[in-house]
Amino acid sequence: MMRDDNCIFCKIAAGEIPSKTIYEDDSYRVILDLGPATRGHALILPKDHYANLFQLPEEKCAEVMKLAKKMGTQMKENLKADGFNLVQNNGECAGQTVFHFHLHLIPRYENDGQKIGWTVGNPSSEELEEIRNRIMGE
Ligand code: 5GP
Ligand code: ZN
Repeated sequence: MMRDDNCIFCKIAAGEIPSKTIYEDDSYRVILDLGPATRGHALILPKDHYANLFQLPEEKCAEVMKLAKKMGTQMKENLKADGFNLVQNNGECAGQTVFHFHLHLIPRYENDGQKIGWTVGNPSSEELEEIRNRIMGE
């Protein structure tokens, strides 16, 4: 296993620190978040240490999304959720506080009082074109 001895999610994923686990296999553990946004908020943790999405190997990206669909379906049904958010933060400015890749599974309920959002911008077509060219390396 690739691990970082100072990483709390490595310890949780390995079972060295107890957690409310809702799924486990050789490569992943899914746990309830201790500071949930809503009832059932959970985190998919790879057992190997990758700091963020950019470090996560491509094949694991696919595995994580499959697991999100499986767990999301089970959670939505059994918790009677009305909707569902997947959230994944990379970097401190993006809200990442634990630097071991994790995908948030957030069941949503009508009138749950939470919001996951941003203020909407209003760029000109020229600005969008400039950004498009920048992203595409043109
Ligand atoms: P981030 O802000 O990095 O995307 O998300 C970190 C998440 O981990 C937060 O939602 C926080 O509540 C959760 N968290 C932090 N420490 C622990 C812990 O020790 N156990 C569990 N179950 N969740 C944790
Ligand atoms: Zn780790």
